[in-house]
Amino acid sequence: KEALKLPKEEIEAFRSDLKQEIEAKKSLGAYVEQLTCKPLSEYGTGIPIAIKDNIQVDGWEVTSGSNILQGYVAPYNATVIDNMLRHGLAPFGRTNMDEFAMGSSTESSFYGKTLNPHNPNCVPGGSSGGSAAAVAGGIAIAALGSDTGGSIRQPAAFCGCVGLKPTYGKVSRYGLGAYSSSLDQIGPITQNVEDAAILYDIIAGHEPKDSTSANMAHQSVADKLNPNRKMTIAVIENYLNEASPEVREKMVEGIRALEKAGHKIIYRNFINSKYDIATYYVIATAEASANLSRYDGVRYGNRGSNDNLKEMFIQSRSLGFGEEVKRRILLGTFVLSSGYYDAYYIKAQKARHFIKAQYEAIFKEADLILMPVTPTSAFEFGSKADPLEMYLSDIYTISLNLAGLPGISVPLGFDSKGLPVGAQLVGQAYGEQALLDGALSLE
Ligand code: GLN
Repeated sequence: KEALKLPKEEIEAFRSDLKQEIEAKKSLGAYVEQLTCKPLSEYGTGIPIAIKDNIQVDGWEVTSGSNILQGYVAPYNATVIDNMLRHGLAPFGRTNMDEFAMGSSTESSFYGKTLNPHNPNCVPGGSSGGSAAAVAGGIAIAALGSDTGGSIRQPAAFCGCVGLKPTYGKVSRYGLGAYSSSLDQIGPITQNVEDAAILYDIIAGHEPKDSTSANMAHQSVADKLNPNRKMTIAVIENYLNEASPEVREKMVEGIRALEKAGHKIIYRNFINSKYDIATYYVIATAEASANLSRYDGVRYGNRGSNDNLKEMFIQSRSLGFGEEVKRRILLGTFVLSSGYYDAYYIKAQKARHFIKAQYEAIFKEADLILMPVTPTSAFEFGSKADPLEMYLSDIYTISLNLAGLPGISVPLGFDSKGLPVGAQLVGQAYGEQALLDGALSLE
């Protein structure tokens, strides 16, 4: 709780810097004429929390890191923002992200790259790289990110923060720019596990305007955090053996810390993670191709030439979307097209059930599952030019989203290059309390 308190002068200094920045941008004509950016004072003097650029804040531009959404001002608050305001927190500043949350390095943002605070030659991870870098670099005490296949946990691990991806449905997606609706979840990126619990309690809860929001009363977790709870934790041994030697070494230290805290450790294996990747990139791109069809130059943001309707659609989308987003729209449209639907999309849905069953089997014997967040620590800019290589940096984070389960990334310390390494704990559906209790033993 202490960590979420900043001296009033510091909050005010943050605010005036941002105000100046907004004014400067306006005077440069960088904002569209209609832009009515609400003054920050309207958000009160709450604790400032940095917000990923795909979460709507009433009156603020929301662009999902894309050219196509330049100048689009959100007409209402996302549920998480309303919940924050009700609890004395205030949205504070936009954080950079991969365009439409598609990526693992924040390199695909229209605004350019975000640097890793521990090494400026390395990526901060993605897609919530701006949120993680802001927290790790001391600009924000906490931030919100979104996680479709690892976008909270992977950047948290690369930057040395705590990142929590809640159970699917626990935090409402109302007001979140949709990437893959059956996988997306908003969650906190913080400096420690307790702050993650506090912020999670504030943003979680049922939202009637969101048909996928879990219709259950939220049981608060932060006030019940228990570092002395003893659990059985299953380590995914084949993932541990595949990871880089330095990640493995740190993970072994983490396992020792869990044993020392009195947890029982068992070892289990998962099927080859290449099947998770294949399944995820069929389902995520299929849903993305449908979700992104709304960006046509008519209703949101940037518009191409106005010659005729077809030209306008083509120009708006050709100029507005970046290369990775176009690749995914094409792939998603392909796997949904007649003749290929059964071979790819339906098969991926079957594989998704299999992946979920694999978790359920292990949860018959264990309370939590432990695995690395990523196979390596943060990589250098430009080192993953091949999209398939980039996709492989998510091999340990995406299956959780396919199964709808909660997961947390906790820093384990630094490797020999001075880069942070994280451990990932996975909980049962709606088992955030046990997940956060277990995470305390790793801190
Ligand atoms: N890196 C993954 C992707 O590109 C996950 C992104 C995310 O969780 N938003 O799809």
